[in-house]
Amino acid sequence: MDIFHDNPLFSGVRQMLGAFAKQQMRPIAMKHDTEESMPWDLMRSAQALGMTQSAMQDGRKKLTGVEDDPDPKKPRTMARLGVAASEELAWGCAGIALALGGSGLAASPVSRMGNDEQKAEFKKLLSGNDEHGRIRVAAMALSEPGTGSDISGLKTSARRDGDHHWIIRGSKQWITNGQSASVFVVWAQTEPDAGRAGVRGFIVGRGTPGLVPGKKETKLGIRASETAQVHFEDVRVHGDMMLGVGGESAGLADTKKMLDSTRPMVGAQATGIARAAYEFLLDRVRGGSLHGTPMASHQHIMFELADMAMEIHAARLMAHKAAWMADHHIENVMESSMAKAYGARVAQAVTNRAMVLLGEEALEPGHPVEKWYRDAKIYDIFEGTGQIQRRIIAKQLTGQNPT
Ligand SMILES: Cc1cc2nc3c(=O)[nH]c(=O)nc-3n(C[C@H](O)[C@H](O)[C@H](O)COP(=O)(O)OP(=O)(O)OC[C@H]3O[C@@H](n4cnc5c(N)ncnc54)[C@H](O)[C@@H]3O)c2cc1C
Repeated sequence: MDIFHDNPLFSGVRQMLGAFAKQQMRPIAMKHDTEESMPWDLMRSAQALGMTQSAMQDGRKKLTGVEDDPDPKKPRTMARLGVAASEELAWGCAGIALALGGSGLAASPVSRMGNDEQKAEFKKLLSGNDEHGRIRVAAMALSEPGTGSDISGLKTSARRDGDHHWIIRGSKQWITNGQSASVFVVWAQTEPDAGRAGVRGFIVGRGTPGLVPGKKETKLGIRASETAQVHFEDVRVHGDMMLGVGGESAGLADTKKMLDSTRPMVGAQATGIARAAYEFLLDRVRGGSLHGTPMASHQHIMFELADMAMEIHAARLMAHKAAWMADHHIENVMESSMAKAYGARVAQAVTNRAMVLLGEEALEPGHPVEKWYRDAKIYDIFEGTGQIQRRIIAKQLTGQNPT
């Protein structure tokens, strides 16, 4: 039974996106994986449904017809909707799902830390088509060569230029939508000795002099999503575009809170990949034979299936619990990390076992399980590696550094 069955909003979104994933994503998934190309046509249709700016309130409203109550004491639906949607879309194709939702990585800090003027500017830079006639996308540029997990060591700097401007200098790596984005949220160190406390985000439009998109990376998995370097060669930005100024929420501390709300979704994406591989295998076991006897009569296969189903179920519940806590304004640092780390582990374990049980057919390039196996690996790396999640969980368990 669908764990969202008693809530028409969540189950409705799940059903709608499940159908979208099956009818629109699955048929083109392998082509974009092979070509390492973004699904621009599908992104346009998805945008019309409100699916490409999922972290922005208007996107959610378009998709679901509802808006969260701005009263911070009232429960929200945002995190649970994100989890329900993420599993379905990643079931369709994790790479395409990231292409559809990648702009949300940048929209999220703007939504959380931006003032009205910054939100309006971000929205303006994302509206209409780009010079290739494609929908506009955004990128969140935090990671750097040698500085992925350890954000306090950011080398990209922002130094003051007069009273109103900043000059940003540095290079970013592994940036989703890094080559195609029309707008960037770039994180830079504003006070050389301040560590994390000095890191700030800036909204920068594509045409700004000195902003140079770099090399596109070739990846093992989620190849329908573009990942690239971006260089900031003395990019001059108005101070009005610095996020979090004058408010309580500023800088990296708030970025960490943002990750607490996105990690359950990343865990749910990994669960979607695991479910795809499990369902493929289940279908085969129901109708297939091994050495002349039904696959379902082989105990080792049945035990593997049972383990996969249990692990997927547990991963889904973990993501849902972490999202439920976020929606109810309950601190979920540990639960978010658990959902992300466990989802990633399950995706890798399930796709690996499906490969083994299917045998050599699954080794052929273009086989769906081979693709899901490749897609799963990345979930142990981005949005905080598996080790980083375990570090957070262990620190929470032992009462160290509670944030
Ligand atoms: C497909 C893809 C898309 C991405 N998109 C974006 C994006 O849009 N924007 C963005 O800013 N970044 C993005 N990233 C970057 C991603 O967030 C980083 O790759 C990730 O944070 C890991 O950083 P790193 O690769 O530099 O590894 P490192 O931080 O160098 O880590 C290397 C190894 O050391 C381990 N390690 C590091 N520190 C510790 C520690 N303290 N304790 C224990 N182990 C540790 C890690 O777990 C890992 O095993 C993306 C990455 C990928 C693969």
